[in-house]
Amino acid sequence: MPGARLIILGRQGAGKGTQCVRLARHFVVPHISTGDMLRAAVRERTPLGLVAQQVMDAGGLVNDETIVGIVEERLGKTDAATRGYILDGFPRTVRQAESLSQITTDSPIHVCIDLDVPREIVVERISARRVCRDCGTNYTSRGDDPSPWICDVCGGDVSQRADDTPEAVNRRLDLYETQTAPLIEYYGELGQLAVVNGVGHPDNVFKRLTDVVESRR
Ligand code: ADP
Repeated sequence: MPGARLIILGRQGAGKGTQCVRLARHFVVPHISTGDMLRAAVRERTPLGLVAQQVMDAGGLVNDETIVGIVEERLGKTDAATRGYILDGFPRTVRQAESLSQITTDSPIHVCIDLDVPREIVVERISARRVCRDCGTNYTSRGDDPSPWICDVCGGDVSQRADDTPEAVNRRLDLYETQTAPLIEYYGELGQLAVVNGVGHPDNVFKRLTDVVESRR
């Protein structure tokens, strides 16, 4: 049965993006990634993009009010309002979570999933991550690849994200522990949290995710 309203939390590099794309197809709902929306704004050089670029390159967080505004507008579109959505990268702070609860009082989320992968493992994964600048497809570098290489999906340039350098990655992971990990407790207290083990073959992780969603809708 299509339709679901989900939040997927997890450290950077936990495999969230790829799993969210699969979940979006499976439940026929839009995948709403605030990171992708901000990167699109940067590419299009909108006023938001110009501000976001500096914050993102430094591994910081865009301010709550701006990001809540973008998400609220997106959730109001027909697809999300009728079928639901998968939120990826939002909320990232307790203040964002509180705003989301207010925005969604009429149709609250079904479940907030914490896709759990330990920090040591994600640092390794992110260092090898390469992304297509045009369509956003993720790849894993084997260490000896050309830079940029050509995307299998769209023919665009695949390279390392400016914020995937070791310094920016560690800063983002620290921010995750201080700003985003408290959301696990927040949704736990509301009885809306499910922790899913994100280590293992992506197909097995996907099965764990869909099982949790099916049991909560
Ligand atoms: P990652 O999870 O690898 O950090 P994302 O693609 O989710 O990547 O986000 C990239 C950057 O965009 C973040 O480091 C942050 O600067 C900004 N960003 C994305 N979502 C939010 C949000 N909900 N609140 C504040 N900043 C955000």
